[in-house]
Amino acid sequence: MKSSDKKPSKGITRRDALKLSGLALGGLAIGNAMVGPGADIAQADDASGGGTIFNDPANRNTYFAMMRPYRPGSEPLGPYEMRISFLGTSCIPRISQTAVSVFVELGNGDSFVFDAGTGVVPKYFAMGHTLDKMDKIFIAHLHADHMGDLPFIYGFGPSYGRLWPLYIWGPNRSGFTFTAPDNTTRGPFNDGTADLTDALTKMSVWHNESQSFLATGYSDYPVPGWGVPGKTDSYDIVTHELDWTKKGDIDPATGLADNIAYNYNGVKITHFPAVHTREGAISYKLEWNGLSMIYSGDTKPSQYIIDQAKSGVDVLIHEIVMPAADWNEKMGLPPEDVAWTQAVQDSSHTPQKAFGYILNQLGVKPNIAPRLAVGTHFQAEDDTIKSALHDIRLWYPRGNVVIASDLMVINVSKNNIDVRRAVVSDYAWPQHTDTTLTSPNRPKYWKVDETTGKPTSDPTAQLDPDAPVIDPDLYNAR
Ligand SMILES: [Zn+2]
Repeated sequence: MKSSDKKPSKGITRRDALKLSGLALGGLAIGNAMVGPGADIAQADDASGGGTIFNDPANRNTYFAMMRPYRPGSEPLGPYEMRISFLGTSCIPRISQTAVSVFVELGNGDSFVFDAGTGVVPKYFAMGHTLDKMDKIFIAHLHADHMGDLPFIYGFGPSYGRLWPLYIWGPNRSGFTFTAPDNTTRGPFNDGTADLTDALTKMSVWHNESQSFLATGYSDYPVPGWGVPGKTDSYDIVTHELDWTKKGDIDPATGLADNIAYNYNGVKITHFPAVHTREGAISYKLEWNGLSMIYSGDTKPSQYIIDQAKSGVDVLIHEIVMPAADWNEKMGLPPEDVAWTQAVQDSSHTPQKAFGYILNQLGVKPNIAPRLAVGTHFQAEDDTIKSALHDIRLWYPRGNVVIASDLMVINVSKNNIDVRRAVVSDYAWPQHTDTTLTSPNRPKYWKVDETTGKPTSDPTAQLDPDAPVIDPDLYNAR
């Protein structure tokens, strides 16, 4: 019987986790990640649960609980260090794992968001990042689990520290057309990232006006290289569409690679095609200071990833999907629907074994296996993790592999890779961040201050003057 035909087996012991993940091998710090004080937390969960929830391997993640803790804000990033935080790791948003987002911080002070799916904003807030840090977003494709939080990120930018435009990178129009058996056609479609951001701007008029009694721009904002002159307002979106067909060939006209999305301050971000559901999905690669990471987004197993990773990548973040039969069971779908679930998976995603196969191929000389491989976009529970690591290990028995959960944090430097679990509060507030900008523009809703004679913000300008508002003197009487 093939492992993918089996139901996920129940439970995962600490020894299983060590053995299956391979983290116990080698001298990397991640070898220690599984045996630190976090192990007590796993036991505490077991002890405090007592009932069906914590004792059911489908309702706990011992693997993650056993990672050593990381306390956000307690460790400045070293000048040659990269930190990758997983702030959304499931295609299905749940309390334990929201939809997809990967946050990359570099020792030079730069930071980048890869995807911003439904529910990721609270995870950023909990990690101590406000929306000023979510100003450069690279979208892999336009599924809602990869961009569903954009309305909040865009609309509340000026309230939570982003006092400049929102910068978004993503694939251009697919160009796809479909001819049905009866010769009718669909497409081409207005389905590019700029179409999405245009629509986002249009749907946000009520929101943006309501917030525009505050200054939404600064006259001393220095337009960065990736900006556009004249676009300085928080409610501007600067969209960089990327030709999703490009994969790094040298453009004879410029002598440059044809897939560069971003190239500033020593940071290069390139893109290449992903094979996912329909044309127009991409993956990203970030390179800085001799360190690199690839973020696959969603994709079927493809040669593109191998080609991009074979020269050596420090961290390969790749989607995986559980076997169709397991998915069916988790979703409460009837067993006879397995063929349909399988067909959907086959159009879009990377089976666990296929990820192992890709890693195996990367380990075959002259290629170089990644220093750490991460499976994500995956519902991480004791039983599913055990199944995933088992299948990956069939092809890739020794290299370092982890399965991502929300709040997993990876520090990467030349000599060390450290995988930990961020300890955050469920009650964290977004924290005010200081700005170096000093010259706010006049708010769009303003009045003349009676005492100073100067323009001032008018938060009440857009209210219905005839609304039957209760006189505060009445409720303040007690
Ligand atoms: Zn997708």
